[in-house]
Amino acid sequence: MLLNPIGRPQVTQDLSENVILTTVDDLYNWARLSSLWPLLYGTACCFIEFAALIGSRFDFDRFGLLPRSTPRQADLIITAGTITMKMAPALVRLYEQMPDPKYVIAMGACTITGGMFSMDSPTAVRGVDKLIPVDVYIPGCPPRPEAIIDAIIKLRKKISSESLAERGQVAPTHRYYTVQHN
Ligand code: SF4
Repeated sequence: MLLNPIGRPQVTQDLSENVILTTVDDLYNWARLSSLWPLLYGTACCFIEFAALIGSRFDFDRFGLLPRSTPRQADLIITAGTITMKMAPALVRLYEQMPDPKYVIAMGACTITGGMFSMDSPTAVRGVDKLIPVDVYIPGCPPRPEAIIDAIIKLRKKISSESLAERGQVAPTHRYYTVQHN
């Protein structure tokens, strides 16, 4: 067997022209990043921009994204809008019903920090990442559809560099908000 300068088996020219070499990680990641299925989750005005993204103008389907209405068929949730204390347990439950591996994109100021409700609202959650782990943040009020596409591209890059073994070892950290009744 021919060996290359670092002692690994050398691939002959004939073989390299006819055989595609990859790793299980690369193949698995390519399949996942090419078919992300987002759960439809809109709680306020940010979702209007997400709805615009689904239209033909932005050709959302080219990324293999297929919006789903059930968490059991989704591996991505884009939280679009304000999250309230009352909504928090339902959001965590939806997230937990999604099969692994799963991802979260936080869209807009309200979902990232509480936005304009962060100063004096007794009911707004000050950051969805206090409830579920967030992979990509999209700042803005509201972010434009192009910003969502940018976030999808960032998430795809993140998925492409993941290792199956590492992802399996990451335990999601959940913090639950309690609902306060005045
Ligand atoms: Fe509405 Fe702006 Fe909040 Fe989005 S960030 S939910 S557009 S107020």
